[in-house]
Amino acid sequence: RAKEQGKNKYNVFHSGMNIQSYRSFLLQNDLRKAIDNNEFFLVYQPKVNIHSGQVKSAEALLRWKHPVWGLIPPNEFIPLAEESGLIFEIDQWVFKNVCKQIQTWNNNQVEYIRIAVNLSAKHFVEKNFIQNIIQVIDEFQIETMQLEFEITETALLANEESIKQTLKQIKELGIHISLDDYGTGYSSIIYLRNFPLDSIKIDQSYINDLPNNMNNSVEIVESIINLAKKLNITVIAEGVETVEQLEILNELQCKEVQGYIYSPPISSENLVEYVQNDDSKILTKINDPKPLS
Ligand code: C2E
Ligand code: MG
Ligand code: MG
Ligand code: MG
Repeated sequence: RAKEQGKNKYNVFHSGMNIQSYRSFLLQNDLRKAIDNNEFFLVYQPKVNIHSGQVKSAEALLRWKHPVWGLIPPNEFIPLAEESGLIFEIDQWVFKNVCKQIQTWNNNQVEYIRIAVNLSAKHFVEKNFIQNIIQVIDEFQIETMQLEFEITETALLANEESIKQTLKQIKELGIHISLDDYGTGYSSIIYLRNFPLDSIKIDQSYINDLPNNMNNSVEIVESIINLAKKLNITVIAEGVETVEQLEILNELQCKEVQGYIYSPPISSENLVEYVQNDDSKILTKINDPKPLS
């Protein structure tokens, strides 16, 4: 039904539309052709261990190169895709291409690295969700351990029991589960207890606030880290840009970070190079590292 609503909404052009909704209207229509026209591509952003420089995981991020408008940011087109129901096709494209990339790396004996795929909350109410995943994994003959899903809290809000079952199945398959943008939704501690999460990613808005301890971000981040540690959940800080932020995170015992300070999202080729060359990353960004604990 949401699909139909989306269609109706966007197949009709109103003369009263403002520029922004007119752009959305055009993009929404073009989005339907983007897969067939080969306008999507993937970039990867490493998650780096502060102490070892090691990269065990990288996040796949979708890019859309529109033939006329150029690069459209996902924050603009993903909501349009969710509204129209196209998100299923798009995330399926992403998932397949990530699996294909992993297969290529495996065939070329490239060092093992787990790739995280962002999944819209919409998937978790789809009946064939798990079956589709298994089918694609079989098709590309990769290990489930090589995969990770990033989901946001909104995914956990809907129909709790069935979501829990779905996450359990994902976990049983051996795929890692990350809770993305932690702290922006309801951020209930209950999520951490009720769902089989391997890691949580602290939203970049908190990381931004760290240096001046705006909005008590230091205390909040510290308590998230401590709680997660007790529950045996890995914490990753998102959007780390400055040495100052990195130093505070290091003091708070957050060991895994992602952000421009280490690397922006990069091509698959550059990712391989980055992963293989971790000497250049070890401790270079922090002056006074805490010993490994
Ligand atoms: P996200 O999953 O929370 O991804 C993090 C976003 O922060 C990415 O933006 C990344 O490029 C950006 N980022 C990383 N490090 C830094 C930093 O140090 N500073 C700043 N300012 N930003 C940083 P991007 O690639 O534009 O993606 C935005 C959002 O779009 C993602 O947020 C995710 O929710 C969604 N998205 C991206 N690809 C996909 C996809 O394949 N499927 C779905 N469903 N959503 C996607
Ligand atoms: Mg993400
Ligand atoms: Mg995020
Ligand atoms: Mg985000």
